Amino acid sequence: MDLAYAAEQEGHAISNRLTDSHQALRAAGRYGGGLVPFGYQKTPHPSGSGWCLAPDPGTASVVRQIVEDVHAGLSLVAIARKLNEAGVLVPRDRHAQLQGRPLGGRRHGRDFAHFRWTSGTLSKVLRSPSLMGHRVHRSQTVRDDEGAPVLIGAPLLADGEFRALQELLQTRSNGTRCKRRTTTSLLTGVVHCAGCDGRMYFAVRKGYPHGDYVCRASARGDVCHSAAAMRSDWLESYTVARYREAVATDVEVTRKDLLGNAVRVDVSKGRSGGGPARLTGPDTSRLTFSIGGPTANPRDN
Ligand SMILES: [Zn+2]
Repeated sequence: MDLAYAAEQEGHAISNRLTDSHQALRAAGRYGGGLVPFGYQKTPHPSGSGWCLAPDPGTASVVRQIVEDVHAGLSLVAIARKLNEAGVLVPRDRHAQLQGRPLGGRRHGRDFAHFRWTSGTLSKVLRSPSLMGHRVHRSQTVRDDEGAPVLIGAPLLADGEFRALQELLQTRSNGTRCKRRTTTSLLTGVVHCAGCDGRMYFAVRKGYPHGDYVCRASARGDVCHSAAAMRSDWLESYTVARYREAVATDVEVTRKDLLGNAVRVDVSKGRSGGGPARLTGPDTSRLTFSIGGPTANPRDN
């Protein structure tokens, strides 16, 4: 595919959709800053003001190769190994390189000359709608008033290619999720009941894909007067998100990472009731996250 031609076509498509200046401001296809999505580079906006994104000749072909490898049946772990062996820079390092800044940096309390690909890094790249040229906020496509995706660059993948890729990744990740459940739960030793200070343990909930982390005071022969319990998927995604934020990482998070960084989440007992809002996610007012010990504040590191 001729990407320059595709970029031009997208440019026309964008201009045709713009009907008023309010919309123009939002949807003119400007790149507003932040990490340049992998496969792209910053380029002056055709209007003469601001920036948009164009395929990065250095990495757009890497994206294509990765997608081919996924379709060929390679695991993300195997693809990550291949990229590391080939010396391909991770998104963060490529971004730094394009900006003329040094590669690598500090992570998990250690200095790295450059970062390495992991299945987590790959998963993030492959699941981002920025591959379709979309503007993305919190992993989701930003849409204009009419519901159309806001484009900030030429698509590296057509909509159909992107969808097929997501289905494939979804099928594979379901497989690994089932496998993990047979080993130690992600948050064992990390989550604690605020009522008794004891560890919470994973418990299966019959008929549900998720379970719960529960206070086990009674199993220890103790009495807990405000025994906490929370859905495992909510508690896990909350903890992983807070951890990633605290250490500025986007890699896959393991129990070893959490314990090694002294991550602790205290869960207090929920009130009964709570209405429909309870069904959408964890009540974070019940959760206290800490990392690096009881008094450390991750934002101070
Ligand atoms: Zn308890």
